Amino acid sequence: MSAPRVTSRPCKTDPEAFFPVAGRAAAVRAAQDMCRSCPFLGQCASDAVPMVRDRLMAGGVVAAVLVPSETACRKQETRERVIEQLLEVAAAVEKQRAREAA
Ligand code: SF4
Repeated sequence: MSAPRVTSRPCKTDPEAFFPVAGRAAAVRAAQDMCRSCPFLGQCASDAVPMVRDRLMAGGVVAAVLVPSETACRKQETRERVIEQLLEVAAAVEKQRAREAA
């Protein structure tokens, strides 16, 4: 039997899980796993890019990517690294969809 299909955003039902206390690797991984099963993963990753670029988002997990603290996100290279990861997630979802449609 396969796992039930997720139809809602896990971060809406359990928002605190997506803001794990710094250094809690297991909590970060748990949030990332929830994102990976989220049907909105690709769009979420794309939507998060401008928010990270404009420093409107920090200190949480979005689209399976850990966005560091506001302090760490002040560094442009940190924001660029996170943006790169988000774009990779969005591209991977697109690729997966294309494979499934073929
Ligand atoms: S992929 Fe985005 S919308 Fe889905 S659970 Fe993660 S943060 Fe929420």
